[in-house]
Amino acid sequence: MRDLRPDDLAGLDQARLGATLERVVGVGNRFAGTPGEELCRELLLGGLAGLGLARVRAEEFRYLAYEPLAAACAVVGGEGGPALPAAGLQCTASAAAEGEAVYVGACREADLAAVEARGVDLAGKVVVAHASLAWLVAPQLAAKGVAALVNVSDAPDGLIGHFPASLYPPPLAPPWEGRILPFPGVSVEAEAGRRLISLMTAGRPLRLRVEHRARDVEKISANVVAEIPGEAEPGQRVVLGAHYDTQIEGPGAADNGSGLAALLELAHTLRGLRRRRTIELCAFGVEELGFFGSYHHVLRDPDANAATVGMINLDALGLPSPGRRLLVSDPSLGHLRRRRRDPGRLGAGGDGGRQPLRLV
Ligand SMILES: [Zn+2]
Repeated sequence: MRDLRPDDLAGLDQARLGATLERVVGVGNRFAGTPGEELCRELLLGGLAGLGLARVRAEEFRYLAYEPLAAACAVVGGEGGPALPAAGLQCTASAAAEGEAVYVGACREADLAAVEARGVDLAGKVVVAHASLAWLVAPQLAAKGVAALVNVSDAPDGLIGHFPASLYPPPLAPPWEGRILPFPGVSVEAEAGRRLISLMTAGRPLRLRVEHRARDVEKISANVVAEIPGEAEPGQRVVLGAHYDTQIEGPGAADNGSGLAALLELAHTLRGLRRRRTIELCAFGVEELGFFGSYHHVLRDPDANAATVGMINLDALGLPSPGRRLLVSDPSLGHLRRRRRDPGRLGAGGDGGRQPLRLV
């Protein structure tokens, strides 16, 4: 056994990593509460145990599952043609609502303020938005008393992106009151959404009827956790994490089969090298509905948090389209932020970010 060197990670076995990804994707959809999610959990438990890692375990937690029943959006009175292709916006009410449509663009604070400055009261309105991440804006809309939210999807080719409209603030543990927003919401397909917006700007006010039906029921899932003990400072932990669930459709090759395959490949490589600290590998459950698994992991044991010196999150490493990466964190971590093209690497602050943070 020898010490870990920075270039060890350049030697990850790409063929093996690819084969792991194929196996994960082969499970199919892994949305929380589905057989695919359970199958993937079994695969991970077996995979980590097969590597001979320590303390391989399932760490159970309760969460609020989403079971979609129906989603619809239509212009009242039949103007504008048939109903728009729609999918439920998760974490919005199971209800129907009708109201005058108001377009608020990206739905940022400034967009809402601009609309309100023209004398529009958003209370009771059906807000039509083009928000790439609805959960960043929907709670503010709830505070304004909107009747419903119609979010135009960014997905191409007639597809509809599936998103929750609320990730936090918690509750992310029972009781669940307040977890579901008080209005119904749907995502509509991009082209139909653009047609809707053109109708809205063509003169008379337009009324929309939005319906979202779903069951939000408590279920149990689990994180899959394992350890590679450290040698010099085994009491200190570095967490390597990747969520294993997907959104409601698709096999989730990029999000997050890629992160999961990387996690297992790192486990494979790191177990054969001398580590300074204990590495805790966490495959988190139920990320897509609101970080339930990772929240549980952080909240369950304050002592473990005190011993944790860092965490590396592996999420959607192989996104197929160029796009902005969004980091959401506590403001106290802001000084660690670095742009991709910054010459420095992630540092512990005060050093201009040029010193790599040696975690393991
Ligand atoms: Zn993800």
